[in-house]
Formats: sequence, C-alpha cells, structure tokens
Amino acid sequence: MTAVVKKVKKGDTVMVLTGKDSGRRGKVLRVLPSEQKVLVENLNMVKRHTKPTNTNPQGGIVDRPSPMPVGKVMVVCGKCNKPTRVGMKAKESGKFVRVCRKCGAGLDK
Ligand SMILES: [Zn+2]
Repeated sequence: MTAVVKKVKKGDTVMVLTGKDSGRRGKVLRVLPSEQKVLVENLNMVKRHTKPTNTNPQGGIVDRPSPMPVGKVMVVCGKCNKPTRVGMKAKESGKFVRVCRKCGAGLDK
C-alpha cells in the first residue's frame, strides 16, 4: 500500500485533473489499492456491451464508470470546496487524520 491511495477514500468528492473529464467532479465509489485506481461516479464513463438481464431485458450498450489512476484526481475539500493536496495530521490519540492543505479542515468524516 502506498501513501497515494491512502489519501483518497471511498465517499470522497474528487476532481479530475486531466483527460476528457478534466475539471469534472464526482464521488469515489471504490478505491482499488492494488491497481492504484479509483472508481468515480459518473466519470471516466465507458460503453459496455451487456447481455440481457432481468433489470435490463434489452441488453445492449450501457455507460458505466471505469477505474482511473488515482494520480489523475484530486480530493475536493468539503469546507473550502476546492481541490486540494491532502495533508496528514497526527491527533492526540496518535492516529493520523487527513486535512486540507488549503484551509486546514479535516477531510475525514
Ligand atoms: Zn479546505
């Protein structure tokens, strides 16, 4: 595990830095630490061909988000609403919490 992935967590809002979705924001649905990738809601959409199922009897082509490299996104601070680098701060308990480098607000809920 590396520090990079630890800084992005499921449920975070992130902004895309490069590519066709550059500047767009979405919520992290999954973190894939072994691949250094994140799956973000409504971003990096790809068309998938699917077979007919009960929920989608027609089958066909659907748009689904696909994982993107974690280095392509930045966490958006819930307080100052800006994309920021993530700092780590030690609490009195010795646990580290993530903080916004811009305004200092905690990023963990
Ligand atoms: Zn902030």
